[in-house]
Amino acid sequence: MATNGETHFDLIVIGGGSGGMACARRAAQYGCKAAIIEATSKLGGTCVNVGCVPKKIMFNTAAFNEMLHGGRHYGYDVRDYSFDWGKIKTMRDAYIRKLNGIYMSNVERAGIAFISGFAAFVGPKTLQVDDVQYTAEHIVIAVGGQPTMPDIPGAELCIDSNGFFAMETQPERIAVVGAGYIAVELAGIFNALGTNTHLFVRHDRPLRTFDPTITSALLTEIERSGLHLHPHSTPVAVTQDEKTGKYTLELEGGVKHDNFDTILMAIGREPMIAPLNLEAANVELTKQGHIKVDEYENTSAPGIYSLGDVNGKVELTPMAIAAGRRLADRVFGGIPGAKAEYDLVPTVVFSHPPIGAVGLTEPEVEKKYGKDGYKVYSSRFTNLYYGHWPIPVDDKQKTVMKIIVVGEEEKVVGLHMLGLSCDEVLQGFAVAMKMGATKADFDATLAIHPTAAEELVTLA
Ligand code: FAD
Ligand code: NDP
Repeated sequence: MATNGETHFDLIVIGGGSGGMACARRAAQYGCKAAIIEATSKLGGTCVNVGCVPKKIMFNTAAFNEMLHGGRHYGYDVRDYSFDWGKIKTMRDAYIRKLNGIYMSNVERAGIAFISGFAAFVGPKTLQVDDVQYTAEHIVIAVGGQPTMPDIPGAELCIDSNGFFAMETQPERIAVVGAGYIAVELAGIFNALGTNTHLFVRHDRPLRTFDPTITSALLTEIERSGLHLHPHSTPVAVTQDEKTGKYTLELEGGVKHDNFDTILMAIGREPMIAPLNLEAANVELTKQGHIKVDEYENTSAPGIYSLGDVNGKVELTPMAIAAGRRLADRVFGGIPGAKAEYDLVPTVVFSHPPIGAVGLTEPEVEKKYGKDGYKVYSSRFTNLYYGHWPIPVDDKQKTVMKIIVVGEEEKVVGLHMLGLSCDEVLQGFAVAMKMGATKADFDATLAIHPTAAEELVTLA
């Protein structure tokens, strides 16, 4: 919906991504006159355009290749097949355009005004977009983040995760630098699709904040998958060969790895703060440069709120959506205590195989409850999917599941797993933990056989 010349609203949301859209739509349901200002012409933000959605399509594409490889163990003759990166990109882009359209229709149907352009504060409750000024009683900053690039010579020769989604052809040999979700997920996709993939991490392993049992299992699966992991590798420079156009990555200590078609940096994301001119609104930042908010997403300036990646609490789409909805419930819906809960956040890394985790890791539990204050139940097994494959058992992918319990009642405070389907298994168990489930509750739940999930209710 266009603004029809209106420049004053009850609510202006800056950023039409996961959090901003959720907040504006919920507020509109309460009868609030809302507007969204979005810097690009597309709605949906990072998740829809250069994040979760196109990433999951590429994860599925890679998983499909893995299934084709395993086909012979299921009686299929799948010797001759080819893969066309350009084709999946075209189909993926078309789907994203469709989603952009659906998001725009949702905004129109909700009667929310859409303003296209970069917003900057020119006063406490006043925003400027191009040469028009807009005012509102309430302003929500939900501008998300952007990939961080390292400050090393040659960094401009590399691509980031946005560049991944723009790639028209599949590289033959790639270096991925970073140790978080994005590095692990994108390296896994390339590797499963047959690209000679090298993952460079600064420490001994990727995903260091995850439970050590799970990251150890991930290391085993990375090795099994043929992905080349380079631990203790900090990049210091990138160069390009003038003749071949290939790239070289130089590491601390002088070691060089060359002949890469592409070098992808995935070393974290930073908030999109600079263009907002926050000083004009007296909005304070944290030491890390995120927008400072309290538990209700209030910033330091009255009537200005911030949520999603830009406040740096939990950088996940469902978190941004929950924060957006709860804020609208509180400010416009007459629910004074409404706020998003940042504990027991379930999360999945779409690695190969995927990781699912909710609650505290073992080191976190140990720190909180002491060495003798908790108990671990775990299982490591071969999923039945691989059971009959005529290969040595050690060569078969393993699933690892682990729960951590505390107190006499054995309340489950952490659940961590890696393996086939763990991405889908997690959600239901997260509900149980949110309800305060104990080990006895898990045990009292009848298993579903034969599944991987049944292991979690039969742990001894
Ligand atoms: P965004 O969705 O980033 O939206 C911010 C919007 O604000 C953007 O559209 C931007 O253009 C706009 N904007 C910025 N500045 C201005 C301005 N000054 N004026 C107007 N508009 C502005 N999360 C998951 O839960 N699951 C996943 O599988 C997952 N995969 C991911 C994969 C990748 C490669 C990446 C990068 C992220 C992934 N995430 C995933 C994280 C998820 O995408 C983010 O947590 C989520 O999009 C954050 O939502 P947001 O509303 O805070 O910001
Ligand atoms: P992350 O913050 O997850 O990880 C980045 C990691 O890169 C750091 O933890 C660090 O690990 C390493 N690193 C940092 N600086 C450097 C450097 N200069 N050189 C080499 N390595 C470096 O960032 P991502 O970009 O992967 O993802 C951003 C966020 O987006 C995630 O945290 C997540 O919240 C969200 N996301 C969620 C997904 C999902 O839900 N499946 C998928 C993708 C993203 P170390 O200290 O160990 O070196």
